[in-house]
Amino acid sequence: ELKITILDEYFYHIIVGRNVLERLKDFLRTAYFNPKLAIVGKGVHDNFPNLTSELQRVFEDVMVIEDGEKSKELETALYIIEKLWERKASRWDAIACASGGSLCDTVGFAASIYMRGIPFVQIPTTLLAMIDSSLGGKTAVNYKGTKNIIGSFYHPSIVASDLRFIETLPERVYLSSLAEALKYGFTLSEDYLSFLVNNRKEIISRRDDEVMELVLRASKLKLDVVREDPRERKGIREVLNYGHTVGHALESGSKYELLHGEAVALGMIVETKYYDKINGTELDKIVSKVISDYEILKFVNLNSVCEIEEEAYTSYILRDKKRIGDRIRVPVLLGIGRWELRELPVTSFAKETYSILKSEI
Ligand code: NAD
Ligand code: ZN
Repeated sequence: ELKITILDEYFYHIIVGRNVLERLKDFLRTAYFNPKLAIVGKGVHDNFPNLTSELQRVFEDVMVIEDGEKSKELETALYIIEKLWERKASRWDAIACASGGSLCDTVGFAASIYMRGIPFVQIPTTLLAMIDSSLGGKTAVNYKGTKNIIGSFYHPSIVASDLRFIETLPERVYLSSLAEALKYGFTLSEDYLSFLVNNRKEIISRRDDEVMELVLRASKLKLDVVREDPRERKGIREVLNYGHTVGHALESGSKYELLHGEAVALGMIVETKYYDKINGTELDKIVSKVISDYEILKFVNLNSVCEIEEEAYTSYILRDKKRIGDRIRVPVLLGIGRWELRELPVTSFAKETYSILKSEI
């Protein structure tokens, strides 16, 4: 199955389905640029040994490198730039990345700064990368333990999501991906959230039809937001940061022992409890219940999360990109599918959310 969406401002193609790499090859054969180098993450390589040979038929060169959050560093981006430089890549040469969000964010960043930007092809291999990180043009690496603070806005030329990759994801990685799928439901659409709730068993067991529907619906929800506010400057795209202020601090604070999706799931629970206290709402009941039914935190040792020191936690909140002076601008959930942006004092945000983490998680 094939679906192409075009994001007006950037005209890029998104292909979703099974065996879409064939389609990708056709696209690349007719593209104006030259497919130079494909980077493949070790996780997907170990499970799909044929992927490298398939890509070798299109790209001049294929390299397998370590992926995962701990490789999402400036050094990895520089290593990729070095490989482009060694191959004398020019602005007409394209680089691809087949991996999860961590390595794709890193390769995307390298692609955006090498010669001020060369064509970039996203081949997301986790559910999270398919529905979130490959769409919307944010690239980044972590720096001194702080999440995503070096990065750029840079869109790929094409995104090819092959659902076959979902089959080999370790259970922990797959479940963690679902946090972002739920995020779109909580913040943007009650109807889509009902789909997730009603089809939970099928989704958790990775049934083809439901996973396909999830990928298409989630991608559309995200792209609708990105299209309105591509650079997060109009107070619209900020909604996608729901759960991410606390989430990023926990991810960093755990030294990346927590997966991104797990940290975001915890972040959505803690932030919602905090906003409930401010607004007198009871949204946490729904948010916590859906997250726990989906068992996203099944592999997380909550005691060790609670051992993150307050000082470290606060320092990550203070380094968050959304801080403006002594305030932090965050999307606050008002109801399911309803939210607004608020500027809250950053020190009380850190203090209150930390105390919720300690006492209620
Ligand atoms: P990940 O990229 O860290 O991958 C998780 C693990 O899955 C890795 O160990 C990897 O080797 C393995 N893996 C990948 N594909 C596989 C496959 N098909 N079979 C078996 N194993 C496989 O995790 P992720 O959840 O994909 O991405 C999280 C990252 O995405 C975070 O760094 C987050 O900040 C980023 N992100 C970015 C955006 C954005 O807009 N750019 C949005 C959301 C998240
Ligand atoms: Zn995220």
